[in-house]
Amino acid sequence: MPDIAPRKAYRVGKSKTGLGLFATMPIKKGTRIIRYFGPILDSRIPAHDEIENKYLFELNNRWTIDGSVRKNLARYINHSCRPNAESDVRPRERKVFIRAIKNIEPGDEINYDYGTDYFKAYLKPIGCKCPSCEAKRKKQRAEARAERAKVKARAERKAEKAGTKGTKAAKKKFNGHAVGKKSRARA
Ligand SMILES: [Zn+2]
Repeated sequence: MPDIAPRKAYRVGKSKTGLGLFATMPIKKGTRIIRYFGPILDSRIPAHDEIENKYLFELNNRWTIDGSVRKNLARYINHSCRPNAESDVRPRERKVFIRAIKNIEPGDEINYDYGTDYFKAYLKPIGCKCPSCEAKRKKQRAEARAERAKVKARAERKAEKAGTKGTKAAKKKFNGHAVGKKSRARA
């Protein structure tokens, strides 16, 4: 039997992308946190097959959980490319549990990888906002900024060098006296 998190190990709270599910107490790696539940849809029933919402959790070709019901708090769990939980899918039991794959601290947002299909269909087009992707983007922005600074510094050094050369030549010519444009032109 897996460890099961106490009833109130989580709460719904504000996350960067809207709402999310957050740990309210330490959750040990391997612990079952919450069940993802809702009506079971059968793809062989046309009326079921027509249901479309972003909380559908496919168990296999035939069975899908419609997780859009209010009581299914697991629907608040956001996707992450580097998650601290995973979905434990049990098609035979037609059940899905969300289980910790890392030790989760109170206040941490709980997340799991929604899978490649979901990522391609919903996240890739708008850019994944998960903490891991945000961090990656932040790093890329910082690197781009550093690169621009480097180019600018190089250009400035170049300009300075050219400027120094000019001053030196002028100094030589005019014996160190500061000169204006006119006197230089005259010389
Ligand atoms: Zn991501």
